[in-house]
Amino acid sequence: MSQVKGKTGNYKFKAEINQLLDILTHSLYTHRDVFIRELISNAADALDKVKLKTLLGEKICDENLDLEIKISIDKDKKTFTISDTGIGMTAEELKKNIGTIARSGTADFIKAVADSKDKDVSLIGKFGVGFYSVFMAAEKVEIKTKSAQPDETACIWKSDGKGSFTIEETSDKIKRGTTITAFLKEDAASFAEEWSVKSAIEKYSNFVPFPILLNGEKVNTISAIWRDPKSSVKEKDYKEFYKFISHGDEDPETWLHFSADVPLQFNALLFVPKKNMEFLGFGKLEEGVQLFVKRVMVDPHAKEVLPNYLRFLRGVVESDDLPLNISRETLQENPYLIKIKNTLTSKILSHLSSLAEKEPEKYKKIWNEFGRILKEGYSDFQHKDQIAELFRFESSGTEDKDELISLKQYVERMPENQEKIYFLSGQSRESVEKNPNLEIFRDKGIEVLFCYDPIDEFALPGLFEFSGKQIISVDQADIEEIKKISGTKQDKKEIDDEKLKVVEKLTRRMKNILGDRIEDVKISGRLVKSPAILVSTNKTMSAQMEKIMSMLNQDTAVSPKIMEINKKHPLILKMADIYKNNPKDAVLSELTNGLYLTASLLDGSVDKPAEMAEHILKVVNRAAELYTDETRPSNRTEKNK
Ligand code: ADP
Ligand code: MG
Repeated sequence: MSQVKGKTGNYKFKAEINQLLDILTHSLYTHRDVFIRELISNAADALDKVKLKTLLGEKICDENLDLEIKISIDKDKKTFTISDTGIGMTAEELKKNIGTIARSGTADFIKAVADSKDKDVSLIGKFGVGFYSVFMAAEKVEIKTKSAQPDETACIWKSDGKGSFTIEETSDKIKRGTTITAFLKEDAASFAEEWSVKSAIEKYSNFVPFPILLNGEKVNTISAIWRDPKSSVKEKDYKEFYKFISHGDEDPETWLHFSADVPLQFNALLFVPKKNMEFLGFGKLEEGVQLFVKRVMVDPHAKEVLPNYLRFLRGVVESDDLPLNISRETLQENPYLIKIKNTLTSKILSHLSSLAEKEPEKYKKIWNEFGRILKEGYSDFQHKDQIAELFRFESSGTEDKDELISLKQYVERMPENQEKIYFLSGQSRESVEKNPNLEIFRDKGIEVLFCYDPIDEFALPGLFEFSGKQIISVDQADIEEIKKISGTKQDKKEIDDEKLKVVEKLTRRMKNILGDRIEDVKISGRLVKSPAILVSTNKTMSAQMEKIMSMLNQDTAVSPKIMEINKKHPLILKMADIYKNNPKDAVLSELTNGLYLTASLLDGSVDKPAEMAEHILKVVNRAAELYTDETRPSNRTEKNK
């Protein structure tokens, strides 16, 4: 290999890319035609970049070339060749962009194909490695490219996709742009036939904003549908356009097409996808909204047009009021863009709200996919109310996980004198429903929202209130206030004063027994069924939140707990009797420890499982002893069931 100068030479592909190539060259895939889409998409990106440079008055070479994409195929030689008059690459850029720098999406993509049943590679473009898809169809690839920078030499990249590639400079007279030739594999020869290439372009690349010529004939219809009036765009066009910009094959779940003229001119077309890719275990995806200024794409992954919690949207935003030479840094502070972002955020949130009214089932799907991300919007002060309207929950008033309610519904069905919105979080419906904190709410017929997602612990207190009602966790509720709410049922009979006095003394004895393990033992106002519960002394945070915080930061100690006991529970009443007979009775310690351990189990704060197990064994053992020593009635043998 002749080492000409600089970046020319023989190189090895970066390890991850090699792995990717290995997968792409050695298996048979469905949707192999996506390589055509990916090469066209790269050509269009390169043309966009050169267009922007021209409009900004930057110096480029061959400035009079038409901005277009040419595809030529040769059935006999089995070649597929695509040329663009775009930005091109220098030898240095070639080496970096194709072969040596692996995008962060490479590993995610490898995993995604490995997991897909029919080896569907159509997602490849979403991961920033679209170029390599050409190796599904080609046994050898050649790239000739000349950078738009004046005075750069053209160069040639060659590879068979097996471990290495070469870059050479060439003295051929080449004009600005890139030509990629795929020497097709035997079984991919159909990609050198007109019908097959044409159908791939029609399927995937109809919206490419530059002419695509196939053997000299224009095949795409160029149309920026987001600039067209809504009335003239058909549902089919929206769906097709979505597939085009999302490099995918699925329909969108819903979309919003929107134009504004005063005080700012802009057009937007935003789509909600059907699937949440972050949910599928891939890392955070790149922002998927393209920003156009005066018909030029200035940013294919605009971060500043939507808040982060709407990052799952795909689409296009275009404004003629933004300067063309807007850079990522200045975007953030551009006052027009800030206004556009606010308007768009409001629009899309109310689009989702009205969808929720009109098509609740459709909205539920969106919430189930993207709710997790939308909830991050709780801290967007300006749109807090709109976001709060979008939240959905299971609750003590719903049947199962298929039935979700909104905060609005919750407030509408609150008893008249209920002032707050209550929620309870836990790992699952089952564990939340068993939480003793819920008992008084159940008893009073007060609905409680169920939350299973750690972010709820931040999001709900973050929203703070909805339609004037404060949102709080049940373990922070003021029990006196709860008792006053005239839900369905009223308090049943109380225990007599004499008994109550004994129970009060019993609580002090219990505190003695438990010692440092507990801050205090008190008679509870919130228990209905369970004998005891642990309650946090922390007034500013729910117990769940405290747990999250101490998990995040090992140093934060969980605040001390108070054990509350249910004065009407048969077990407590029995203990009171034992206490009355003999306040020092040793069985009281055992029972108290047992109560404490079960309460901490329900609280999720058992720190010594061994102690717990030992205690249970002791009790079981005692039961066995009682049985054999005292009763031993042979007639108590378990009957056949
Ligand atoms: P992506 O398009 O998502 O960046 P690809 O794997 O498709 O990922 O392409 C990798 C990179 O190679 C591009 O970002 C670009 O820098 C460069 N590239 C590919 N094709 C062309 C082309 N036709 N003209 C100029 N640069 C190109
Ligand atoms: Mg690409």
